[in-house]
Amino acid sequence: MKKVVKFGGSSLASAEQFKKVGEIIRQDPARRYVVPSAPGKRFAGDTKVTDMLYNCYEAAEKDEEFINLLEQIHARYQEIIDGLNLDLSLDEEFGIIEENFEKKAGRDYAASRGEYLNGIIMAAYLDFDFIDAAEVIRFNEDGTFNDEKTNRLLSDRLLNVENAVIPGFYGAKEDSTVVTFSRGGSDVSGSLVALAVTADLYENWTDVSGFLIADPRIVKNPKSIETITYKELRELSYMGASVLHEDAIFPVRKAGIPINIRNTNAPQDKGTLIVEGTCRQPKYTITGIAGTDGFVSITIEKAMMNSEIGFCRKVLQVFEENEISIEHMPSGIDTMTIFVHKNEFEEKEQQILAGIHKAVDPDHIELESDLALIAVVGRGMRSTRGTAGRIFSALAHAHINVKMIDQGSSELNIIVGVRHDEFKNAIRALYEIFVLTQI
Ligand code: ASP
Repeated sequence: MKKVVKFGGSSLASAEQFKKVGEIIRQDPARRYVVPSAPGKRFAGDTKVTDMLYNCYEAAEKDEEFINLLEQIHARYQEIIDGLNLDLSLDEEFGIIEENFEKKAGRDYAASRGEYLNGIIMAAYLDFDFIDAAEVIRFNEDGTFNDEKTNRLLSDRLLNVENAVIPGFYGAKEDSTVVTFSRGGSDVSGSLVALAVTADLYENWTDVSGFLIADPRIVKNPKSIETITYKELRELSYMGASVLHEDAIFPVRKAGIPINIRNTNAPQDKGTLIVEGTCRQPKYTITGIAGTDGFVSITIEKAMMNSEIGFCRKVLQVFEENEISIEHMPSGIDTMTIFVHKNEFEEKEQQILAGIHKAVDPDHIELESDLALIAVVGRGMRSTRGTAGRIFSALAHAHINVKMIDQGSSELNIIVGVRHDEFKNAIRALYEIFVLTQI
């Protein structure tokens, strides 16, 4: 059994957190490869080391004073080293970083030092090998990620290594220029290591016990999701539920390696298992509910629209030419409605309306803003009758007017559109009917 374990910033924010992590790793010898993030927030209002590094480098780039900030960053690490009683000094490393900041080594280089230094501490604390991600995670000349080369470098390098720490978030080009993934990218690094060593499991340790059925800022103490498929996760993440970096899914999914989201502060919790497929029936008909607001709908009406060949294409072309992405497109016999993000649409609104008039000469166009979309997602819906009925009766009981309904052909989700001010109540009503009352 081989496991790759990734720990997020809050799991490594202080010596106390490091100790919890150490205990988790030592408890299971299968946890052989460790991917750490940079130290995150120790308390609400604290600053992540990654953000401190970005700020510090910004000052260096403008030839402003940056040593003071760099010393504060050094102090964060020193506190961890002291708290762990390690015989380790980062003085030399900070000397090199200072020189490289003066030479303007780049924003990515600066940010990457957060995980690099945390990796050095982690390796010393666990007595594992330290492997610099710059040597094994490869980016192309143009800055895009090179998956084939990375997989080869990583698997060759780790082949005979029993235990190692590989810092997350960054890699390098052939010429050693450091490149980072986007924010939260240590999740991606963990996934790449799991693929390279063909791990049995990729454990992603964070500060929540997995995915929750609904957003805890909307529903009080929502239950967590035990097992979720990659497809369900995609639907929920698309609608705003976020715990894991989106790009972390592809490498492990391809290799059939499950991801287990776990809580460093509650290691006894099983967390959420993300799998390709499962015969395990979910506890509830639905796996999760997620939603986002800030949508606008554009309804286009024209008599006999249905017999006008190419009508939809012409309308869609207007959006394409204006580079607006379409989120949903429910249609009637003589109407079609297009949902778009308000912030993208607003600026180009008049251009698009004029474009539609010109392209299809509609009888009427109606705009409605401040809409929210809610996705009710679950593999269990396919085999359960009456899910849609329950959704609409729950919303009707809560006096919520449904503006749009869209059921994906996979029967994996049903999307409803509601007014922005009814958004939270709608989610609560849905949670209640599917999870609390479970009728
Ligand atoms: N430390 C980086 C960030 O704050 C990457 C990560 O934590 O995954 O985004």
